[in-house]
Amino acid sequence: MAVVDYQSIEYSSYWRTNPERIALARLENFILRNFTNGITKGRWAIDLGGGYGRLTDHYFPCAENVVLFDYSKKLLREAKQLYINREHEPIYVLGDVNRLPFRDRVFSLAAMIRVFHHLPDMEKPLNEIRRTLKNDHRFLFTYYNNRKLSSILRFLLGKQELSPFAVVHQNVDDHYYCTHPRYVDDLLKRKSFEKEKEFNVGLPFEIFGHLRVYPVGLERVLMGVMNPLKLSQFVYSRWVLREAVVSDECSQTEETRDIFACPECRNTRMEFEETTIKCSQCGNSYVIRDGIYDFRTGTVPGDG
Ligand SMILES: [Zn+2]
Repeated sequence: MAVVDYQSIEYSSYWRTNPERIALARLENFILRNFTNGITKGRWAIDLGGGYGRLTDHYFPCAENVVLFDYSKKLLREAKQLYINREHEPIYVLGDVNRLPFRDRVFSLAAMIRVFHHLPDMEKPLNEIRRTLKNDHRFLFTYYNNRKLSSILRFLLGKQELSPFAVVHQNVDDHYYCTHPRYVDDLLKRKSFEKEKEFNVGLPFEIFGHLRVYPVGLERVLMGVMNPLKLSQFVYSRWVLREAVVSDECSQTEETRDIFACPECRNTRMEFEETTIKCSQCGNSYVIRDGIYDFRTGTVPGDG
């Protein structure tokens, strides 16, 4: 499966200059404060597909250490610049969300914001999140809603082929995948997750967007009210993992090196040297360069 890598997109300027993105960022900060409020502080949290660290600050109150995980070295390098002289700094890890380079049951919080709509498959990453998340702990994520109001209208007017009512995760164009809310709910439940909170956002932005007006206040008022209708563009969701039988609860994860496992064979006994990590089981080697752990395998496009 192709790994999504957005090295060519200037994400940080995109989020700082586009008025819709600035408004959405304000709204996201509000939602993530709500989602992380009251979460008991654990040892390790992970920001999956966290890019240049736009939202990573939200997870520091939830854990002693935060892993910033992405496939793009360019974005993690930008994150390193962002965190110069900050009080906290994440641990930078490169890898594939379909094969996480971490031990089972390490994380007390996993977040994957604005990532699923770039992935052709939801199930593989979800299996990995389930494997690496501690039981009774939270997973925060977003998805792009298949049955948003504008899609329904376009479909009914014959301007869109994809059915907004299809209970699937499907490709909209080269870069986007949209998902039906029932598909998400069924999948998460099948993986032993239980829904705690949800916010549907983006409908007022869509309605007023052509006037270049993005009413954050109205979104905040409506996002809870909009939940039963599920007509909004994006869904922000908080779930908790409720495994019936829990085995192999991870305990010895004091040091950063303790959290890793080989993404190829899941071996947890890896040999760490100054700039390399070697798996004694499958023989794979990974590198540590410029303070970034690189667990990407195969041919990496672009940045070496
Ligand atoms: Zn291995």
